Amino acid sequence: MFERKKTLAVKVANIYIGGLNPIVIQSMTNTDTSDVKSTANQIIELYKAGSSIVRVTVNNEAAAISIPKIVEYIRNTENIDIPIVGDFHYNGHILLTKYSDMAKALAKYRINPGNVGRLDRHDENFKQMIDAAIKYDKPVRIGVNWGSIDQDLLLRLMDENKRKTKPQDSNFVLKEALIESALSSALMAIKIGLEPNKIILSTKISKVNDLIDVYEKLASRCDYPLHIGLTEAGMGTKGIVNSSMALAILLKQGIGDTIRVSLTPKPDESRTKEVEVARHILQGLNLKVTQPDIVACPGCGRTTSTYFQELTQVVTKYINTNQTSWSKKYPGFEELKVAIMGCIVNGPGESKHADIGISLPGTFEEPKAPVYVDGKHVKTLSGDNLTQEFLEIIDKYVSTKYQK
Ligand code: SF4
Repeated sequence: MFERKKTLAVKVANIYIGGLNPIVIQSMTNTDTSDVKSTANQIIELYKAGSSIVRVTVNNEAAAISIPKIVEYIRNTENIDIPIVGDFHYNGHILLTKYSDMAKALAKYRINPGNVGRLDRHDENFKQMIDAAIKYDKPVRIGVNWGSIDQDLLLRLMDENKRKTKPQDSNFVLKEALIESALSSALMAIKIGLEPNKIILSTKISKVNDLIDVYEKLASRCDYPLHIGLTEAGMGTKGIVNSSMALAILLKQGIGDTIRVSLTPKPDESRTKEVEVARHILQGLNLKVTQPDIVACPGCGRTTSTYFQELTQVVTKYINTNQTSWSKKYPGFEELKVAIMGCIVNGPGESKHADIGISLPGTFEEPKAPVYVDGKHVKTLSGDNLTQEFLEIIDKYVSTKYQK
């Protein structure tokens, strides 16, 4: 399996992306950027959910004017210093030149080389954006996307391919175009005067296999830090599963320095879902432990009732509710592992592997639930007060083990 070596490290305000630094979770708002309050509040929400960087679209003059106000609002109301990235398409060169306060307030600029104009205008507009990055000492992400690939570059590569004795299929050429667009744009930025350690690349595509393929190739051809994510992953389970598959395979090879999970939220769903999924991906791969691990069996015909599902829900909610205060009071509490199991088959075994585990009685078992702490049987619970007593055991364990 390919294993990517150390990459360059890029400083984005107070955070490093790449090098040997931890993988950074980022997300993007879906509010109208010109609405300062809504956008700032969503950024705060995403930050609290675990996003270290938040990107906002800067699509027009009103959005550009709002950026310094958003940064100020977040600092003044919550004292949060989260890097905010501006996402530019079509008119970024104009906005970055005209609105210097916006250009200064942003921590990074995302430039899409497919959306900066055609032919001569392409190079001029691109240069204008890189000039702004140099002037204000900002890093950039050259973010290529197959939905907006540089058409001139794609046509040239398709033509060259046609003339070959053994032409490749069009999907192969498209992926080469994504890589070529990212690498040649990075080279152009360096020629303009941007330092190589100010550049992050991405080449996003919405098919899992293609994404893995394109990033494996890109990673083998450069040492820039890579922003990875399955673009337009979709809604619900499909989006979560596809994003997780693609990102896990890349991250296991050391590919990916910052991740974004691009989920389509349901109309009533919080935008923070994408951050939650990103956290689970990193935690599942043991790359970044941000929250306690609650292990629960799926249940089967041996499960007597929905009690173990209810207990799992109550414990999860209890830990989530206390997460912020416990993280401050009890350093290392994120490492906690709790197991909630439905019967004797795997119950005691899994419980012993956890810090705290409970094995609930399955069908035809005695109505008793042994509790294990650090692998040892410490108590057997039963009766109506079981949930409360189990929560008290968790409380006691956390306040004793993770005390400062
Ligand atoms: S632990 Fe017991 S109840 Fe849970 S899935 Fe396994 S056999 Fe079924």
